[in-house]
Formats: sequence, C-alpha cells, structure tokens
Amino acid sequence: MAMYTTERSDIVEPERLLVVCAHPDDVDFGASGTVASLTDAGAEVSYCLVTSGEAGSDHLALSGDELSALREEEQAAAAKEVGVSDLHFLRHRDGALQPTLELRRDISRVIRRVRPNVLLTQSPERMLERVFASHPDHLAAGEAALCAVYPDARNPRAFPELLAEALEPHTVAQVWLMAHREADLRVDITDQIDRKIAALRAHASQTDQHPDLDGMIRGWAAMNAEAGGLAEGRLAEAFKVVPTA
Ligand SMILES: [Zn+2]
Repeated sequence: MAMYTTERSDIVEPERLLVVCAHPDDVDFGASGTVASLTDAGAEVSYCLVTSGEAGSDHLALSGDELSALREEEQAAAAKEVGVSDLHFLRHRDGALQPTLELRRDISRVIRRVRPNVLLTQSPERMLERVFASHPDHLAAGEAALCAVYPDARNPRAFPELLAEALEPHTVAQVWLMAHREADLRVDITDQIDRKIAALRAHASQTDQHPDLDGMIRGWAAMNAEAGGLAEGRLAEAFKVVPTA
C-alpha cells in the first residue's frame, strides 16, 4: 500500500485511478511517484491527456502535428516507467483550453469507460505563489474534470449521447488535486523517486535542456515532505482531497 501522511480519516484507497491532466508531462511533475507506488500495490491506473502539448516548445522546427505525436509517444514511455499503459488522448487544443461542455462530456466519457474510484487532476484554483503550476490550461482541465465527476458522469440525463454509447453513469468517490495551496495528503515517494525522474526524462522535448532536473525534483519532493511533517530525508507528493460521493 502507498504510504500516506494526513490528518484526514476519509482517504479512499485508489483501486482504479484515473489521472486527468492538461498536458503530457503534468502527471509526471505532480504525481507519478504516487502512481508508481499505487501500481506496485496492484492498483489499475489510467491517464487522460486533454491536450497533446503541441504548443509546448519554443523551437519551431517541428510542426504542431509532429510535436503532438512526439509528445504522445513521450507520455506513453513515461507512463510505462510507472506501470501505466492505458492512455486516453482527447486532443483538445493546447494553450486554448476552456472548461466547456464539450470537454466535460469528453472527460465524462473516459470516466464512464474507466470507472475509477479515485480521480486525480489539477487544481482549478490559481496559486498566486506558484503561477507556473497554475497554467491556464491546468485550471481549465481541473475545472472540467471536477464538473465531470460532479455532476456529469453520474447523471444519466447529462450527455445522453454517452448512454447511447452504452456508457452507464458512474460515481467517483474522491478527487485528489495537484498543485493546491491547502494540500492535506502527502504520499511518500522516497522509494519511487528514481522512477519519477526516469518518467520525466522520457519527456525529452521538455526536460532534456534542464540543467538540474534531478536536483529540482528532489528539492520539491523534500519540501512537500517537510510541509507534511514526514521524517527528515523523506520525499513526497502533495494533494488536496475532495470527497465526491
Ligand atoms: Zn502543463
């Protein structure tokens, strides 16, 4: 079982986890240590990527289509490092995400297919202290995912086209938010940090120019652990827990 540090008594153990993120690499920066720990424990984990990241490079040698194809491959390789092989690409437009009804429907479709008991996504609330974690696409993906969890995916009258696809309503019991200032759950990833960094290195189009990826990721994880009161030397990822059942 994953190692949790929390004052909450209502943590739902993810048996089937769906991760919804705006861009390829977001899950690996925020949560892939936790994902590795869960898949080690036998949980089934699926990823839903809302965009394929075609706006995510300052180098204009590749076309948008080439970049999105590359980034989908990178995400699949990164997922493999942490035991995930079920990926759903929604291919909404990178850099232009809005929590539209169309996006809520597309995420609801994946929820009804995967039928997770816990969904992990990005915070819809902007952190003014860490604006890079609060990219507008992240806020939109988090908002649309929360709307899909409640009320859309569970409501048989929401998006009747999904019922026509034989996708029955589904209630997700709990949502975990990345990059939220009021984190109340820390997951110890000390034993998974090498795989998290390997997953991030798989996103070479994003990380291969970084002067000290290893040091940055370990530094963030140490700060998360310290804020959660974990023992000295431990590393953690941090989440805000939202009960949704
Ligand atoms: Zn992102």
